[in-house]
Amino acid sequence: MTTPKVITRFAPSPTGFLHIGGARTALFNYYFARHMGGEFLLRIEDTDKARNSEAAVQAIIDGMNWLGLHHDGEIVYQSQNADSHVEAAKALLESGAAYRCYATPEELETIREQESDTAFRSPYRDQAEQLDKPYTVRFRVPEGETKITDHVQGGIVWDNKNFDDLVLLRADGTPTYMLAVVVDDHNMGVTHVVRGDDHLINAGRQTLIYQALGWEVPEWAHVPLIHGPDGKKLSKRHGALGAEAYRDMGYLPGGLRNYLLKLGWSYGDEELFFTDEGIAKVFTLDGINAAPARLDFDKMDFINGQHILHEPDENLIKQAIPFLEETNQGALPDDLSTRIMAAMETLKPRSKTLKELAEQARYLMLKRPLEISSKAAKPLRRDGAISHLSALTLRLKSLEGPQWSHDTIQELLQAYVSEHDIGFGKIGQPVRAALTGGAPSPDLSWVLALLGKDEVLGRLSDVIENDQETKED
Ligand code: GLU
Repeated sequence: MTTPKVITRFAPSPTGFLHIGGARTALFNYYFARHMGGEFLLRIEDTDKARNSEAAVQAIIDGMNWLGLHHDGEIVYQSQNADSHVEAAKALLESGAAYRCYATPEELETIREQESDTAFRSPYRDQAEQLDKPYTVRFRVPEGETKITDHVQGGIVWDNKNFDDLVLLRADGTPTYMLAVVVDDHNMGVTHVVRGDDHLINAGRQTLIYQALGWEVPEWAHVPLIHGPDGKKLSKRHGALGAEAYRDMGYLPGGLRNYLLKLGWSYGDEELFFTDEGIAKVFTLDGINAAPARLDFDKMDFINGQHILHEPDENLIKQAIPFLEETNQGALPDDLSTRIMAAMETLKPRSKTLKELAEQARYLMLKRPLEISSKAAKPLRRDGAISHLSALTLRLKSLEGPQWSHDTIQELLQAYVSEHDIGFGKIGQPVRAALTGGAPSPDLSWVLALLGKDEVLGRLSDVIENDQETKED
């Protein structure tokens, strides 16, 4: 017997953004399908008219594209499958696995008040005669037990007494989630349902519906939800919830993917996964932890920092452009792009996010004359600081062409401090103030090498001239 092709799906309700918990579930589905040589499908559960809009659907699609979560086949819209949902409800009515419930909202209210601790059974459950009144179609929960074996949660048994006779079709003929999800998963050929464990009990209910329809029950994997750093269920209180918010904070799609994947899934001690193929090769449902995962921003930063280091410079700068432009307050002219590109080696190890990378590159983008905050300018006011800058300027001027390099500059600065028998800080601090205005910056020789001769001499002379003007005033 050949095993059927694995088909997984991600079935978000469009809420206006791709929730990172949903994104992680989608990743698990995506990599499991890739691992098994199967397919990963996308179904938009858009039956709640009030909440749906094109923009909300687009936000999910954009989030998935950004994260590199490529689905197979066409997107399935649940709202377009109403006919097959109704058809399934009819089949269940015919077989007696469902019944017409004529209870009015008032009647339902009274029943609920009476029997609050037992599962709902309608008084119309055994009514054979059809009435000329509006009705809902309810599932007739059979007696007995329902068992599932979940890939994450293990074996689970429910006494069916705990399951309500749920509505499958509302009085207006529209299907409910519980029916639609079973019919759609069946029609899409889904073999493995991997989703949040808030749906665990639904697996029991849905198993009964599958069985009543005579359909094969899919395999289940209910993934624990993501909790905030404080151990509480993730909510707005914890900050960013949507994938796009992480994009805007400057996380790389590969970094966030790696982090979310590792959040609640393990493969030995391996922490870093840089390629899709690498993950797909080793990803199985067995590695998913049953304990809730806690969001840990330090870990996210660490992993993203590793992805920044690993990313080729050209790719990284492309992704960093919006952040660099924001820091530069405008488009990046070619000479600046070249300067930043040359600085990548020093920027990458100092940046956990693209936002940080732009901040680390700010000193390269400053416009002359620099605004130097009074705090940053302190070393410039020390005795002898300006005359050191003038003396150094003369020496730096003598470096020609390729001599303007990190190593030569370092030697020049070292020679200067030994000749004058001064600590490095005596020149290091004022030079750094003059060249960066207090913006974050790497090792001083790099600052000079990367700014280039003209810019360095220009920034130094601005400070020296400004000092003279102040003295003349
Ligand atoms: N649309 C449901 C949700 O967003 C998911 C349904 C499912 O995965 O079965 O919670």
